[in-house]
Amino acid sequence: MSRKFDGGRLVIASHNAGKVREIGELLAPFGVEVVSAGALGLDEPEETGTTFVANAELKARAAATAANLPALADDSGLAVDSLSGDPGIYSARWAGPAKDFAAAMALVHERMGAAPDRTARFVCALALAWPDGHCETFEGTVEGDIVWPPRGSKGFGYDPIFQAKGESITFAEKEPAEKHAISHRADAFAKLVAGCFK
Ligand code: IMP
Repeated sequence: MSRKFDGGRLVIASHNAGKVREIGELLAPFGVEVVSAGALGLDEPEETGTTFVANAELKARAAATAANLPALADDSGLAVDSLSGDPGIYSARWAGPAKDFAAAMALVHERMGAAPDRTARFVCALALAWPDGHCETFEGTVEGDIVWPPRGSKGFGYDPIFQAKGESITFAEKEPAEKHAISHRADAFAKLVAGCFK
């Protein structure tokens, strides 16, 4: 049994205002009042973990301790099987300081070469930590294939080269609501809500 969140304020361990707002909307039906790590002036810890879950957990723990409140953190990225899971936890870093995802996608394409295995997945880890040191973690995934050339302009990051299993359009060709219905983030949040908010 997962520990339940028992109401009140929840720190979202992110400095991304869009992410904080979205998470706030998702959790509002459960009587959660979200406050961002940025608004509390909390530092962002270095992401030294070697897995998505480890990075989400270290961010959640740092925020829970610093704020003395429960804290939720996420970590996500693209894992390509023929690249042994790369770019993985380095998904954002492959785009460089300029956040150039055209270059990051080209790098995926170049490294994969003619590898027969085109399978990949988006992964989203969520960690909910309490100030007493307890932490619950959840992982969501969506399976798919890497396609080339990139197609579509609706999503972000690696969406133009990711086609979910059984689909003929990329995540960047989908309407946002259609992507959100099957995404790794939706899967992770469903698990979090079932585990800690119901
Ligand atoms: P994070 O914000 O540190 O978790 O970094 C996530 C990185 O993974 C982003 O910068 C994107 O490159 C990639 N990523 C995560 N989720 C998605 C998605 O839904 N579509 C495309 N790229 C994603």
